[in-house]
Amino acid sequence: MTDDRINLLGLPRADLESFVASRLGAKPFRARQLMKWVYRRGVAEFAAMTDLAKEFRAALAGVAKVVVPQIVSEQRSADGTRKWMLRMDEVQGIETVYIPEPDRGTLCISSQVGCAMDCSFCATAQQGFNRNLSVAEIVGQVWLAHRELDACAAAGPTAPAAGGRITNIVLMGMGEPLANYRNVVPAMRVFMDDLGYDLSRRRVTLSTSGLVPQIYKLAEECNVALAVSLHAPNDELRNELVPINRIHPIAELLTACWHYIDKQNGRSVTFEYVMLDGINDKPEHARALARLLRGRPAKLNLIPFNVFPGTRYRRSPPATIVRFRDILNDNGVIATIRRTRGDDIDAACGQLAGKVTDRTLVRLGTRHGSVAPPSVEVG
Ligand code: SAH
Repeated sequence: MTDDRINLLGLPRADLESFVASRLGAKPFRARQLMKWVYRRGVAEFAAMTDLAKEFRAALAGVAKVVVPQIVSEQRSADGTRKWMLRMDEVQGIETVYIPEPDRGTLCISSQVGCAMDCSFCATAQQGFNRNLSVAEIVGQVWLAHRELDACAAAGPTAPAAGGRITNIVLMGMGEPLANYRNVVPAMRVFMDDLGYDLSRRRVTLSTSGLVPQIYKLAEECNVALAVSLHAPNDELRNELVPINRIHPIAELLTACWHYIDKQNGRSVTFEYVMLDGINDKPEHARALARLLRGRPAKLNLIPFNVFPGTRYRRSPPATIVRFRDILNDNGVIATIRRTRGDDIDAACGQLAGKVTDRTLVRLGTRHGSVAPPSVEVG
């Protein structure tokens, strides 16, 4: 028998309200009660939702369910970072990372099984691309992390990483979030809903390799912090590192970024810049970057390159990274160096690989000799 019950996990509030009205003849407050149970209390079984009438719970169970992802494995770093591999189907897995800091807890979530952007310095790219995650699979990562962190807190202060709490969510795990726009945007609405995870728009960050049309669309539809993987100050170099640049070059990308900030009354775009030894880390690169970003609502985040098996790149030496930052700061651009976290468990930026059955026939990058645009889905 096929199970056609709808998975409520990740349904934005308005959709959940119309679902309970149309399928169960229930008032909107029932949807609000459900959201509190699922997100605040982390309860997935209707039977345990004790302030809902018994008959309502029974009717609900006939048409709906709350399906959460399963954990395949968990790793913990010496620095408190935790990485979960979540089961997507028989063979595939995606990764989610929790990064505790004294003043915040950041959850880094994935948006796709693999990635089709083919950036030459990223481990996820090497896996290829299989599919987009559903809204439930995106929100499910936060649901699970909450449950795991709560379980830890309940185990008492001697438990490792006790008291962990998610204060920030970043879409910086596996995948290109703007290539899965139609599922990513509803998921972000749940993160910001006060009956969902109740995060302010500054605490939800979407990071993109530069899908320009979707940046314009996002500017109209969803107010979150924007991060952009820049990695090079000129098109020649960026074409090589981030192949989507051949379709949407730097000038076009930056125009979209400034539009985003204007439209949303935002503070600034965070530009990510991976520090690759001898490739993009010279003083002239820093000066060229400063010329691009000076006087703009921009911040630069320098990411020391994280190695992974098979990569041809190396991390810039610490002194090079510091000098690069200083040149930017001296030229009027705010630049900070991202502290590497969780690299002992391959949980650092660009190290998430999961388990992906590649379904791409053409890749963006030179390694596969193609510049065809990826199959990008716009919601
Ligand atoms: N596809 C999105 C989301 C991934 S975010 C994007 O490109 O923005 C992950 C960040 O880590 C991106 O800035 C990415 O460029 C960077 N990154 C990828 N591989 C890396 C590596 N090996 N070392 C350090 N940073 C890396």
